[in-house]
Amino acid sequence: MSTDVVARLKQMAGDPDRIWIRGGATYAELLAETGRLANFLGALGLRKGDRLLVQVEKCAAVLSLYLACLRAGVVFLPVNPGYTPSETAHFLGDAEPAVAVADPGRVAGLEGLGARVIALPDLLAQAMGQGADFPDPAHGPDDLAAILYTSGTTGRSKGVMLSRENLASNAETLVGLWRFTADDVLLHVLPVFHTHGLFVATNCVLYAGASMIFHRAFQPAAVLADLPQATVMMGVPTFYTRLLADPALTREACAGMRLFISGSAPLSPATHAEWQARTGHAILERYGMTETNMITSNPCDGARRAGTVGMPLPGVEVRITGPEGVLPTGEAGSIEVRGPNVFKGYWRLPDKTAEDFRDGWFVTGDLGAFDADGYLSILGRAKDLVITGGLNVYPAEVEAALDDLPGVAASAVIGVPHPDFGEAVVACVVAAPGAGLAEEAIRTALRDRLAGFKIPKRVLVLDDLPRNAMGKVQKAELRRSHAGLFQTG
Ligand code: ATP
Ligand code: MG
Repeated sequence: MSTDVVARLKQMAGDPDRIWIRGGATYAELLAETGRLANFLGALGLRKGDRLLVQVEKCAAVLSLYLACLRAGVVFLPVNPGYTPSETAHFLGDAEPAVAVADPGRVAGLEGLGARVIALPDLLAQAMGQGADFPDPAHGPDDLAAILYTSGTTGRSKGVMLSRENLASNAETLVGLWRFTADDVLLHVLPVFHTHGLFVATNCVLYAGASMIFHRAFQPAAVLADLPQATVMMGVPTFYTRLLADPALTREACAGMRLFISGSAPLSPATHAEWQARTGHAILERYGMTETNMITSNPCDGARRAGTVGMPLPGVEVRITGPEGVLPTGEAGSIEVRGPNVFKGYWRLPDKTAEDFRDGWFVTGDLGAFDADGYLSILGRAKDLVITGGLNVYPAEVEAALDDLPGVAASAVIGVPHPDFGEAVVACVVAAPGAGLAEEAIRTALRDRLAGFKIPKRVLVLDDLPRNAMGKVQKAELRRSHAGLFQTG
């Protein structure tokens, strides 16, 4: 059994000088703040198992509220502040939070949806009147810690029930694997409503007793200014491509860094190579999901292979299956996961939960293959697999080939209904600044790299790809927009 998050917080708070956020709280101050907040949650009438919905712009108080909920046994439920009130209605109706915390500008909208809402500044001010000592009740490892909604990339967001042990086991494993120590300073630039910025980033810092530089949003210039004071950064691929566009990104700026980590979406081998050439650092790519926390990681010490997400974390099992069962190394199939990191089920979706577990293994919905050295490659989502003329085309393979072409800044490959082939491979590409892209030239260039059936029937040059808050391409939107591409008459 792993050390609970709250137990770890208390251990770390024993050192009065230990800094949680540079220019902000120490761990001792954080412990006191979470005590006041936990007392105040009780004063609001929240009891163990009740949900607290938190929909605010990124700020350090979200992390304090997360930890206060863990102390009180209240289920933490963060929601992307980018969602409109009508989108948020889904989360309110589904999770039925006892209380919602919102920025002042959102209070009326949420109240209009029937929620009991408190504005964040009011909550923080009123919690100041509470005592810092909180009589922590006993918690079990299987108690519900949080409900986190998935990113909604493939459909409506699903509520993911995560236990205390899910979070604690992953945090302990990642700290060991990524060699976090108390000397580390994490540049925190990710949103805090998603597993990546909330659990991976925050819990790694907490379990190591490290510190963070906390940014309220990702801004390349601000990141570059703070890199010399940091040792670790976690980001999504679009962060890395945006930093590469800034001439201030140099080897010198990154000299004090020990680790750049990427996840949540595929990092193209082209970006990996460019980053290494510019900074001298090989980005460490890892793979995970809201449902499973982190599943695989490239090694901290060994070779980091571009285009792969590395090996399963210690204690986490991964298998690749096809219709006939478990597949041998090298063959592509469905990625399935088992371990203490895997969630307890979808909130109020028992049928979906039953459908996605097979003999105790969680079916991720992603496709992948292991190479002979044990590195996993993600080949795309099962829902995005293109079957053209009866042949499988894995979008990730075509995207990697496209991203490697000069002038291509980003790409997304989709299947579009086609009268002869059932589906046809279609590429959507975005040109690098100043570059011009021509459809036929791209198709010709791909002939050296890909078998004929994998070459896109059409290459659409777009100004931008539709992405969500985590930088994930919304392929369903692309498929909708281009559904009529091959329609005749
Ligand atoms: P939804 O489940 O609502 O459709 P989502 O799957 O995007 O949304 P998340 O849980 O935030 O929601 O994302 C997990 C998914 O992100 C994984 O299943 C995988 O498809 C993708 N992903 C995460 N890391 C990587 C990576 N390193 N490379 C490729 N894909 C990744
Ligand atoms: Mg998903």
